[in-house]
Amino acid sequence: MRIDVLTLFPELFDPFLKASLLGKAIQAGVLTVELTNIRDFATDRHRTVDDAPYGGGAGMVMKCEPIVAALDSLEGRNSRERVVLLSPRGQRLTQDLVQDLGEEEDLVLLCGRYEGVDERVAETLVTDEISIGDYVLSGGELPAMVLIEAVSRMLPGVIGAWESVETDSFFEGLLAPPQYTRPPSFRGMDVPEVLMQGNHAAIRRWRRKEALRATRERRPDLLTGLTDIDQKLLAEIELETP
Ligand code: SAM
Repeated sequence: MRIDVLTLFPELFDPFLKASLLGKAIQAGVLTVELTNIRDFATDRHRTVDDAPYGGGAGMVMKCEPIVAALDSLEGRNSRERVVLLSPRGQRLTQDLVQDLGEEEDLVLLCGRYEGVDERVAETLVTDEISIGDYVLSGGELPAMVLIEAVSRMLPGVIGAWESVETDSFFEGLLAPPQYTRPPSFRGMDVPEVLMQGNHAAIRRWRRKEALRATRERRPDLLTGLTDIDQKLLAEIELETP
């Protein structure tokens, strides 16, 4: 997969793209991330990329021309089928959307700054407006990094064991069950017996039930489309819950 990021602050991405699993994926050629500085496409002496909003009001708005020129510079390097504007006004990023984006050969991510991007860019060139949550950051760079990291986990070879992706929260619609590691007893708190007995069927059942329990307690809105077995496990949980 190739991801092009259009930003006014490409330097923010440098350590992020070198570290950990993402750094390895880029080194291995599973993923290519290219950074384009929108300011390089400003044409005036002051390299202006923003201007005052029509109608007055506080702050500045990112101008159309440098963004469009930056997008045009990708011609031939990227199919540009999916151009994502990171924006608090966008569709909320979910695991389903991450999986959908992970199927693409390439993506363009456009990072806003100031009061945001001139609406005419969003209307004509952007295919997806995506928000990472109901709060406002100063720029689209962190949201773009969130999206890159989440999407990269969907690419073959990035996460060593695919099973660990499949058992993550949201992948199959539920929250993940709790996890434990050594020591078996810590400050009087013991690891559940079932996890130490090596009975894989019992462990699978326990994990499913605890995933359902966590989801029921924390995110009941996610409990949809459950199988008969899930319904039985939920009924057990109901009986166990005071
Ligand atoms: N005036 C805009 C509004 O109220 O919707 C906020 C602009 S924000 C200060 C500047 C840029 O940060 C946005 O253009 C967007 O690219 C990015 N941004 C801020 N919060 C975001 C969020 N929750 N999700 C995605 N991008 C966000």
